[in-house]
Order: sequence, then C-alpha cells, then structure tokens
Amino acid sequence: MQTTRGKLHPLKTALEIRSCDKLVDFYITVVPVKQSNTVLKIVRQAIPNDGGLDIQHLRRFAKLADLPPEVRATIAAARHVSPTITNTDTGEEEEGVGERVLLVGSINASTKDTLTELLAPVLETLALVVIQVPFLTPTSQEQATRWTARFWPTVYKKSNLFGPHPSLANRAMESIAGEVENWLGLAEEVAADAHEEGRGERVGVVVVERIEGVGRVLAVAADARWLDWPRETNGNVSAHAAMRGVGIVAVGLKAKENLKSDTLSASSASLPASIFRDEPIGETERAYFQPSDKKGYLCHELEIYCTHEPCVMCAMAIVHSRFGKLVFRRKMQRTGGVCADGELGHGLFWRKELNWTMLGWQWCPDGEDKDGEGAVDVNLNA
Ligand SMILES: [Zn+2]
Repeated sequence: MQTTRGKLHPLKTALEIRSCDKLVDFYITVVPVKQSNTVLKIVRQAIPNDGGLDIQHLRRFAKLADLPPEVRATIAAARHVSPTITNTDTGEEEEGVGERVLLVGSINASTKDTLTELLAPVLETLALVVIQVPFLTPTSQEQATRWTARFWPTVYKKSNLFGPHPSLANRAMESIAGEVENWLGLAEEVAADAHEEGRGERVGVVVVERIEGVGRVLAVAADARWLDWPRETNGNVSAHAAMRGVGIVAVGLKAKENLKSDTLSASSASLPASIFRDEPIGETERAYFQPSDKKGYLCHELEIYCTHEPCVMCAMAIVHSRFGKLVFRRKMQRTGGVCADGELGHGLFWRKELNWTMLGWQWCPDGEDKDGEGAVDVNLNA
C-alpha cells in the first residue's frame, strides 16, 4: 500500500514462502468443447474427489490460448501439430478453437493406461500430457497471475490458508498507513540520538496504542547496549531497542497499578544496578513516555515501529508480549527474526505454533537508498 512517501509491503509468512515452490505433476488432455461434460464425468469417476487433492485454485478447463507457451508446446508436440496460435487481431482461425484443455488429475491418482482405456473410446485423438501445476492455493492475486503465466490458469480466492486473511490484513494496513512515516521518523530520531551519544547502535522503536483508530505513543526506545557496558562484547542484549520498548511499557503499566493500589512503588533507583534499561533515557524517550490506560496482557494488540528488523531474541519478545502489528524500515537479511525470507527464515511474526500471530510490514520510502542514513552493520543483531 502506498503511503505519502513510501510503500508498505506485507511480510510473507514462513508457510507462504514454502507454499511458493510446491508443484505437483498432473495429466492434462485436449477435449472438444462439445464433449467436455462427458469427459469430465468419466474423469470424476476414475479419480473420485480428485484423489484427495484440493485443486479449487486451478481452472478445470482452459482455452489453449490461455496456457503458458511451454504448456502449449508440450501439447502440440504430443499431438504432432504446430504450437503457434494465430493472432486473434487478424481474425484468422486459431489452433484450438472449439477445444478446451482439461486438467485431468494428479499422476499419483491414476495411471496413464487406466485413463487412456477410459477416455480413448470418447476422444478421437487422445494425448495425455504431464505438466506441473501449483499444489497449494495462491495467497495473493500477484501470485495467481504469476502461476497462470508459468504453469496453469490459477484463481486467487481472496483467502489465505498460510497467513492473515487478506481483508483483515488490508483493513489493518489502512488503519496505520497515514501514520507509519510519522512513527518511523520518531524511531529514526531516537536511534540517531543514541548513536551520537554513544549509548547504543543506531536502532530505535516506537510503541503505539490505537484506540478507535487513533494512535498514540506509549514508549519510544533506542538501543542502549553500550551504556555502562564493555565494548569488547556484543553489548548488553537486554538493552536492544525492542526489549527496552517492551520494558518501558511494562514499567508504565506497573507504575499505574501501583498508583491505583496505593502500594509503595519499589523504585528501580533503590534496586541494585540492573542490566535492564527499562526506563526512558534521554529527552526524546522521556518526552514520549506515556503509560497505557488499558488493562490486559503486557503489549496486547499494540503496534511497534522499528528502524530495523528485530533480531531473533527481540522478535520472540515482541511475539510473547502479544503485539498486534509490527512495521520495520530496514530488513536485516542475516540476523532478522521477523521475516521468513531472510537467511534465518524464522518468520516469527506469524507462526501458529507460538500461539500468537501478528501482522507485519516493511515500509520502503520512495526514491531513497535502500537503507539510507540509518544503515547499520549487516551482522548486527538489532
Ligand atoms: Zn534485538
């Protein structure tokens, strides 16, 4: 989705990535239009229930002209005719007029001999050809269009077995589109502060609560891994920006609860020095710190806007805290835990087995360098 100065790209789930390349071998054959019902009936009897495969995303009959050139060539070779389809603009007679190509069934569901035996009596010229078709239903119109051009006419049914339902995902995207740049801008700002002051890497997050469509910031947090920490290490891992964002939200909730129950708050100042940096540091973080009024689980349905794709640890913390939406600006190809198509391939934003899923997007600004000013080391765990 286009925003004012960039685009939101929905992240692909691990299952979506895997479903992309699953193909299965199918028999197809050319059938005269007049005989299509008869032939389909025979096929359905020969292969009941399509052999247990769900092929509702694949067109049962296709015009020759609508098939990819390779498939047409395969059919033509089997029938010993030329694969060229005459230009429709000239009105000349086309190869395949009055004919359709039938998707017969998986090669595992029946043998060529059986099918030939059943179909030969009704089809004058029978050529059973094997082609590859997409095994699983497409998860977007683009994917269906791609598969149609490459394999076989494929229908997108506006559903998604492997990720968020498209209409839900679109509504959610619309709800944040107008504010994305704003929140990411703020995350960039606080990241730059931390970097310049030497507290941490140039990574920042903004946590937003949305009530009746209106977003407001609960916490702004930058990386603070180098704050009172030796440089020869990887830094303080509990002070990654996202960990701090979650921590600051939690501290805010706790402070409110303590106020309500009138208990004395054990201020962290009285505790022994902690490795957690879960209180706002610096002007920007303090200015935007705003505890939520909502009750419920830690970060339930909150939104997190990140300058960089969070590392595996932070991505897990975000999932466990039950955020509803995650947007990041820069993909961390080597270390990111959110995307399913990075080197680690975890796709943690949408893994049903983790008992919590959220919606995720990468925001890409128009006409800017891939990573812009906020680029960090490719091996950094953000
Ligand atoms: Zn991290």
